[in-house]
Amino acid sequence: MGAEILCVGTELLLGDIVNTNAQYISKKLAHLGIDLYYHTVVGDNADRLSNALDVALSRSNLIIMTGGLGPTKDDMTKEITARYFGRKLRFDETTYQHVKERLESYGIFRMTEGQKKQAMVPEESVVIQNPEGLAPGIIMIKDGKAVVMLPGPPKEMKALLEKACELFLSKLSNHVIVSINIKLKGPDEMPLKEIGEGPVADQLGDILDSPNPTVATYAKEDGVLIRVTASGKDRDEALSIMKPVVTRIAEILGSRIAWVKEDK
Ligand code: ATP
Ligand code: MG
Repeated sequence: MGAEILCVGTELLLGDIVNTNAQYISKKLAHLGIDLYYHTVVGDNADRLSNALDVALSRSNLIIMTGGLGPTKDDMTKEITARYFGRKLRFDETTYQHVKERLESYGIFRMTEGQKKQAMVPEESVVIQNPEGLAPGIIMIKDGKAVVMLPGPPKEMKALLEKACELFLSKLSNHVIVSINIKLKGPDEMPLKEIGEGPVADQLGDILDSPNPTVATYAKEDGVLIRVTASGKDRDEALSIMKPVVTRIAEILGSRIAWVKEDK
């Protein structure tokens, strides 16, 4: 079983914001060699969030959640997830001090009830303090299932995801994934019969069947993109596994290549 991203926020469902968190986390998990199989978005609604969590935990053993960790009533990720795991919320002194100090640095000396709520964390969870905001990240593990809860604002999400990687996520896989993108010239530079996805795939032939590295072609408006992806025990091993294939592709496509770049 693999991983799943569950983003919480009615704004996402209404199309008011783009789910850039899911994209960012997906890339991160791919680089870490963690298999990700689903993206789910659910609104700020207790029943539907419980349901989504139920479905996610039935088919994945790692759920990364974003959103709904703030101080307001519609922020309920912690409460629902803790309840789902049969755990209560407890007051966390370290988080309380962090929230207090951060608010004081903004010149706010009296906390609202909502802000106090941010210091409540599920029992038996790992709490990661937020260097960019108030809400901590939380990791909960039970019966081989792990849920990582991250705040919605991208800057906070990224900082806490990094810490969650150091603490936990990077240990879940014994390999890393590295991709090299090879971009071909576009139709404004060369005739399609030379740089279209069909003729390019024909010329690459059985290179496209390679298992490690894998090679895939994507037709983009400004030219075909070829992605070579290797799995190795570390970045150096992955790079050396893909090197002969990248060289072979460069020989075949020669001057039709616009650029070659590692995908980061
Ligand atoms: P807050 O303390 O700010 O309430 P939160 O953890 O409760 O944080 P949300 O209330 O769900 O998070 O979202 C806060 C803001 O973060 C949103 O208004 C939006 O700007 C951004 N955001 C939330 N989810 C995403 C997402 N999936 N992708 C990109 N941005 C997001
Ligand atoms: Mg919120």
